[in-house]
Amino acid sequence: MKAMEIKILDLSENLIKFILSGCSTAFANAIRRIAISEVPTMAIEDVFFYENTSVLNDEFIAQRLGLIPLKTDLDTYVLPEKCKCKSEMGCSECRVTGTLDVEAKDSSRTVYSGDLKFEDPNIRPVSDKIPIVKLEVGQKLKLEFHAKLGTGKQHSKWQPVSTCVYKYMPIININQKECDLCGSCVRACPKKILTMDKGKLEVLDVLKCTLCMECVKACPKKPPAIEVKWDNTTFIFTVESTGSLPVKRILLEAGEILKNKAEEISKEIKGLG
Ligand SMILES: [Zn+2]
Repeated sequence: MKAMEIKILDLSENLIKFILSGCSTAFANAIRRIAISEVPTMAIEDVFFYENTSVLNDEFIAQRLGLIPLKTDLDTYVLPEKCKCKSEMGCSECRVTGTLDVEAKDSSRTVYSGDLKFEDPNIRPVSDKIPIVKLEVGQKLKLEFHAKLGTGKQHSKWQPVSTCVYKYMPIININQKECDLCGSCVRACPKKILTMDKGKLEVLDVLKCTLCMECVKACPKKPPAIEVKWDNTTFIFTVESTGSLPVKRILLEAGEILKNKAEEISKEIKGLG
């Protein structure tokens, strides 16, 4: 296998597409699984209700608050289980407190994520427009909450990614000698990546191929003049953040967690004497 390499196809704050080559499926999958379930983010965990006259009961509202993605600060806060306070209620290093105090006075109104007030301005909802509950005139919602770090392994509300997938790099070979340009494969391809240009069958964008094999099935030649294979050491990754952490940070943390696991193993083995 050749040396590991990464080629970025697309990178923004919340989305990355890249080609990872020179590694095994097991390694690519380890990165994917750690990004989903082991990179921590912040989410509302404990909610203390003072008043709730809305149509939704306390548990329902607490659940909705928990699912709001929050901007996370991994450099200031620690996971509650790793905090030295060892307290169930947490301390300023392992939780952020906040309040919600809304009343529909003159007309009905919707309570949005933007109504949540956090003690630390760096921790806030990714979007201020997530509806929590609708209040009719006279209804009130007053509560306090604790947001804490956690991982997707514990609850999906702590998952930093909305999408984290890869596929094998497709390889499409065309036997130009056998191909008689009947166009069956061009019409069969659902991604429309094949074209007949200047009397030749060509692949427009191999990265869009989903390995569905429709082109191979459509070819009337026996054996088919088009062949689709894949490279099982090269992966096309797409990772999208929920907005809680920059997508680059999520992948950096995933790599770090995997490295720590490997170091843990070597330490254990050395200890065997
Ligand atoms: Zn603490």
